[in-house]
Amino acid sequence: MNATAFERLDALPRDRLGLTPTPITAAPELAHALGLRELWIKRDELIGFGFGGNKVRGLELLLAHARAQSADVLVTGAGAQSNHVRATAAAAAYAGMDAVAIYWGDAPLSMQGNLKLTHCLGAEIRFTGNLDRTQVDVAIEAVADELRTVGRRPYPIPRGGACALGVLGHVLAARELHRQCVAIDRMPGTIVQAVGSGGTLAGWLLGTAMLGARWRVEGVSVSRPADEARDRVVQLAGEAAALLDLPQMVSASDVTIHDGFIGDGYGVPSLAGDDAVMKAARIQGLFFDPTYTGKAFAGLCSLTKAGRIDDRAPVVFIHTGGEPALFVNGSTGLTR
Ligand SMILES: *Cc1c(COP(=O)(O)O)cnc(C)c1O
Repeated sequence: MNATAFERLDALPRDRLGLTPTPITAAPELAHALGLRELWIKRDELIGFGFGGNKVRGLELLLAHARAQSADVLVTGAGAQSNHVRATAAAAAYAGMDAVAIYWGDAPLSMQGNLKLTHCLGAEIRFTGNLDRTQVDVAIEAVADELRTVGRRPYPIPRGGACALGVLGHVLAARELHRQCVAIDRMPGTIVQAVGSGGTLAGWLLGTAMLGARWRVEGVSVSRPADEARDRVVQLAGEAAALLDLPQMVSASDVTIHDGFIGDGYGVPSLAGDDAVMKAARIQGLFFDPTYTGKAFAGLCSLTKAGRIDDRAPVVFIHTGGEPALFVNGSTGLTR
């Protein structure tokens, strides 16, 4: 355990948005259906702020940093069903700040799911009119510049919240799970989670290295090819470690990311992902989402079937949230 690095982390300003620790629940029926001896769900969808999810963890540090700089408007972006943008809009509202949400593509005909929530939270909503996702990064900086010229104090947050400071929120998640497991005197062997922009996995891997925990953390990519995701995870973990005066602790060989579960693309529901959503709902009364957790859980099902998950110790699936996407009809909702 790297105690001094954790002390530095605890000393960073943080707004306690979430109700943590989030619970861990057993999922015996799902475990049985998959053929796993024991499956636990870490319930970050129940984090209790702004409809929940993993993004709240990074925002606790980002919001405090923004406030320390006397920022008055958070600027971020992603796709219209972004959980990150919705959680950022909630953080801004909570702190009495404004928010600008920048989405790729064009405005849909009706506001549903996360987009509707972001609108309810009072964010100014803009669309780039361009399907190139990287243009959102450019637009975030351009809007921040525009706001500065009219005397505002913007705080830009990269697409998906994937930045070094945000990653540290997920280091805290790893420590949180570790403490919960120490308390019950049982350690999981494998931890599985969805990988989008990679910030969450970067934090879990850095946290695992800092803790000296012996569990394996495995990601299922829902957005980009595994190689590309791996490079981002290593990069982000290194930048986050540097904030704690630590050397790089995560190398490419530490990063396991499974490919093959994206389906037709990020945010496009897949048959396997939707099956996983239905399975969890019908046999365990548990809601996953079509974009992240459903596809990642489909990955866990398939890897288990292929004998690639070691279940001699409990397997933990991180429920990173995302259920507002269940309330979207059309191309980003469920296929059935
Ligand atoms: C963003 C997100 C993820 C993935 O987190 P990254 O840090 O982008 O890799 C997983 N699940 C849900 C529900 C998310 O919103």
